[in-house]
Amino acid sequence: MRLIFLGPPGAGKGTQAERIAQRYGIQQLSTGNMLRAAVAAKTPVGLAAKDIMARGDLVPDEVVVEIISQRIDEPDCANGFILDGFPRTVAQAEALEGLLEDKGMALDGVVELSVDDTILIERIEKRARETAGGPRADDNADALKTRLDVYHAQTAPLISFYRNKGQLRAVDGMADIDAVSEQIVAVLEKAEA
Ligand code: AMP
Repeated sequence: MRLIFLGPPGAGKGTQAERIAQRYGIQQLSTGNMLRAAVAAKTPVGLAAKDIMARGDLVPDEVVVEIISQRIDEPDCANGFILDGFPRTVAQAEALEGLLEDKGMALDGVVELSVDDTILIERIEKRARETAGGPRADDNADALKTRLDVYHAQTAPLISFYRNKGQLRAVDGMADIDAVSEQIVAVLEKAEA
């Protein structure tokens, strides 16, 4: 199964992607986690991405497209994957379509987690307080405002992009964690039936 999890920062994509990936025996592929690892390892990609990420802006499309293109070819993705935090722009979504086609892979669906901005801000402030080893560089008020603005301007258009293709499965991301997971499983199984 190959899925995209779409939603604003703090919507619970990471938490839910981890649970659903485990349930179906597929890989969770978070571009944010991959980029943070590259920053920590001071690779050329990491060095170039560090300040962009700390501000809450998006790293260039071609960088993340290349990361994902290589990653989904690895053997542990043979069963499928959940793209968590990718695509984030229409250009990334179009590039993804092209590369999946080239690889002979099809997408099974796009799960949209919808959450109001006020709840997102509360969740991210909570995550910043509770992250072991200190908050992420971008879990602060300024970067968060940028991340939400970037989401609305550049990522939210993907909702209609995928809805128009009949691939969107919307889920209420404001329920508790278990209830959201159950809703996701339900929309995926309904789509399969
Ligand atoms: P996340 O962990 O998904 O919230 O991502 C953290 C940060 O990594 C984002 O604010 C961006 O700076 C960068 N990032 C992650 N995924 C992407 C993507 N698909 N396109 C561009 N930048 C990304």
